[in-house]
Amino acid sequence: MSAQVSVAIIGAGAAGIGFAVTLKSYGFRDFVVLEKGEVGDTFTKWNPETHLISPSFTTNGFGFPDLNAVVPDTSPAYSEGNEHLSGIQYAHYLKELARKLELSVRTHTEVKLIRLLPDESYELKLSDDTILTAQYVFIAIGDYAYPYTPNIPGAAHGIHYANLKNYDELPVNGPQLIIGGNEAAFDVAIHLAKRNIHSYLFASDSSATSTNPDPSKRLSTYTSAGYQKYRSFIQLNEDKTVLAINKIDDEYRLLFRDGTLTKTNKRPIFATGFACYQSPLIANLFINYNDRPLLTKSDESTISPNVFLLGPQVQHGNVLLCYIYKYRQWFAPLAETVLQRIGIDINPKISDKYLQNGMYLKDYSACEVNC
Ligand SMILES: Cc1cc2nc3c(=O)[nH]c(=O)nc-3n(C[C@H](O)[C@H](O)[C@H](O)COP(=O)(O)OP(=O)(O)OC[C@H]3O[C@@H](n4cnc5c(N)ncnc54)[C@H](O)[C@@H]3O)c2cc1C
Repeated sequence: MSAQVSVAIIGAGAAGIGFAVTLKSYGFRDFVVLEKGEVGDTFTKWNPETHLISPSFTTNGFGFPDLNAVVPDTSPAYSEGNEHLSGIQYAHYLKELARKLELSVRTHTEVKLIRLLPDESYELKLSDDTILTAQYVFIAIGDYAYPYTPNIPGAAHGIHYANLKNYDELPVNGPQLIIGGNEAAFDVAIHLAKRNIHSYLFASDSSATSTNPDPSKRLSTYTSAGYQKYRSFIQLNEDKTVLAINKIDDEYRLLFRDGTLTKTNKRPIFATGFACYQSPLIANLFINYNDRPLLTKSDESTISPNVFLLGPQVQHGNVLLCYIYKYRQWFAPLAETVLQRIGIDINPKISDKYLQNGMYLKDYSACEVNC
């Protein structure tokens, strides 16, 4: 069985749903969102104790949409009644958007393979063994399914924090070693501190000591407040690049670039981020440049025409779109790009609405504080 669509959006997370709503706002209907789980699936997999660090607040009426909204007239703070939403709450916000706006979403449908056809359209092989043909493909698969651990000997002895589903299962005796010094490392350490467990963080550098004005490059105020509260439980060690982990009997030994060694009887935790280039879809359709998909200025693949990347993995030079309030600004310009290619007139009122709400930015160089 095969079907056709102009635009296929892969992934029904914040980026996929936000972009789908934007396309629909412009009056465009010939798209489908393909989602391997449920809408907002990644958020439902977060540790239940994890919350969004960027605050949600119902400021929409004053020209400042809720920082975590993916659609101008909505506010997760309003609909979920929380300033720092849990993953489940944010998934619910996305589900409600998809339901109320009647988005075309195919859940439990994984895109297994994408192949360029001679007529320059794409053939998408789906998990139900059907084929979908699309002229334009927007990849919004996030990176949460691809935890990154440094390529060092013995890395398999550690555990990535995304795989910690319950902090209560961690042993309580002795301090916990955490490799990393940014949001996630502190988030884990704070949750352990609440259980009276000390943490030693080891990092080359840390956002906790950064004075960069970009809020995504220094520790968020939310996490920072937790760090201050539990400071006696959390020891940050900078200039500590781990080179290897050896396991001898029940002991883990971390060797650092400065020649020092630290021992622990607990499995070290990696809080070292995520890397979407590990996804076969990304690997096949984009050039990997410094562990990031290489993109044109319109976030299009440099080797697969009409294939675009959406979401936090988009990077241009120093400009990182790692947070919702950043990458949502590209939904409307990208929608314009694809609609113009299809030959559809752009309704300027929609673009203006996104602009008025601070959700329209076409030029990366206009990003303040390096975006
Ligand atoms: C602990 C933590 C805290 C965070 N806090 C914040 C914060 O406070 N503020 C903020 O702005 N950002 C925050 N982020 C980042 C935020 O979660 C991401 O920006 C957001 O999830 C990215 O959205 P996305 O739509 O790109 O990806 P996702 O939300 O991961 O969605 C991708 C979707 O694609 C689906 N998918 C994957 N592969 C396929 C396939 N082959 N076929 C079909 N479907 C597929 C997945 O099931 C998933 O539903 C945080 C992230 C983490 C991990």
